[in-house]
Amino acid sequence: MTTDLRSDTFTKPSPAMLEAMFKAKVGDDVFGEDPTVNQLESMAAEMFKMEAAIFCPSGTMTNQIAIKCHTQPGDEVICDELSHVYQYEGGGIAFNAGCSVKLLHGNRGRITAEQVEEAINNKTDLHKAYTRLVSLENTANRGGGSCYDFKDILAIKNSCDQHQLQLHLDGARIWNALIAKKEKPIEYGTVFNSISICLSKGLGTPVGSLLLGTTDFIKKARRVRKIFGGGMRQAGYLAAAGIYALENNINRLEEDHIHSKLIADALSKKDFVGNIIPVETNIIIFEVKGPYSPVSFCAKLKEHQILCLPISASQVRMVIHLDITHEMVNLLLSVLESL
Ligand SMILES: *Cc1c(COP(=O)(O)O)cnc(C)c1O
Repeated sequence: MTTDLRSDTFTKPSPAMLEAMFKAKVGDDVFGEDPTVNQLESMAAEMFKMEAAIFCPSGTMTNQIAIKCHTQPGDEVICDELSHVYQYEGGGIAFNAGCSVKLLHGNRGRITAEQVEEAINNKTDLHKAYTRLVSLENTANRGGGSCYDFKDILAIKNSCDQHQLQLHLDGARIWNALIAKKEKPIEYGTVFNSISICLSKGLGTPVGSLLLGTTDFIKKARRVRKIFGGGMRQAGYLAAAGIYALENNINRLEEDHIHSKLIADALSKKDFVGNIIPVETNIIIFEVKGPYSPVSFCAKLKEHQILCLPISASQVRMVIHLDITHEMVNLLLSVLESL
C-alpha cells in the first residue's frame, strides 16, 4: 500500500463516491440540461450565499475564467508572488486575459491591505496600467497551507471598495482554511466578488472545481468557459462526486490537520530537518539538510512506499488528504524515527 503524500490531488474516489457517480442523472450541460450539475452549482452557491456557480474541469480554469471576466486587456492584477494564479497557471493571466501582474512579497503567501494600497496605480497617470483586480489565495499553497485572518481579508476588501477593485479568492483549499479557523463559508461569500473552490483536492473527487459569483458574472463566465473549451456534456457523473464530497468530506479535514501537526512535530526533532513552515492545515513544507538532500530524502522514504515531493533545492513537501490513514501516518512516524 503506497502512502502518497505528493499532493492532495492523488486521492481516488471511494466506493461510496463511485456509487453516487454511477447513479447520477445526466443531460447535456452545455444546454443547461444536466440536473446533477445544476444541483451541484446551486448547492455550492447556497453554501457561500452567493448568487450563482459554474462547474469547471479544473481550478486553473475557474481562476482563469474569473480573471478574464473581471478585467480588460492591459489591466493589472495584484497578487502575492507565490500565488498559484501567477506561478502555476502557465502564464495564463497574460495569455488569457492580456493583463500584467503586480507581485507582492507577502507573509507565507498572504498579503495585507497596506501592501495592496501601495500597489494600486494612479488612475490618472497615463503611463500606468489600470489596476483592476486583487486575487487572494486561502489556504496559500506555497505558504505551507497558511490561512488568512478574516479581519485582514476585510481590510483588503475595504481597500478594494475604496479604489473600485474587484476581489477574487483562489479557494482551492478554502475548506481547509474554514475548518482550521472555525469560520463559515457565508462570511467569505459576502466579501469576495468571485470564489474558486476545488473539489479534487482535499475533498477527494476525481475532477472538478466551481466558480462562484453574481448571476451576471456567472453568465459571463459560462461564455468564457465555452471559449476556453471547458463546456462539458454529461458532466453530471463528475458533479455527483462533488455533491457527495460537499456532503461527506468537509468535516473530516480536521483529521488531516491533526496528522499534519503530528508529522511536523516528528520532523522538528530530526537533525537533518531545517526550517519547517508553520503547519496550519494539511501541507508540510520543510528544509532538508545533510546528510540528506530533498531528492535523497524522498528516495529514502520511497523504499518504504512513502512518496513525497522535493519542491526546491532545499525543501520537501508533504500533503495530507483523505486517502492517508492513521496507519500510514504511524508508518511514516516510525520510518522518520529510524532515520
Ligand atoms: C491545485 C490548485 C489550483 C487548481 O489546480 P488544478 O490542478 O487546475 O485544479 C488552484 N489554486 C491552488 C492554490 C491550488 O493548489
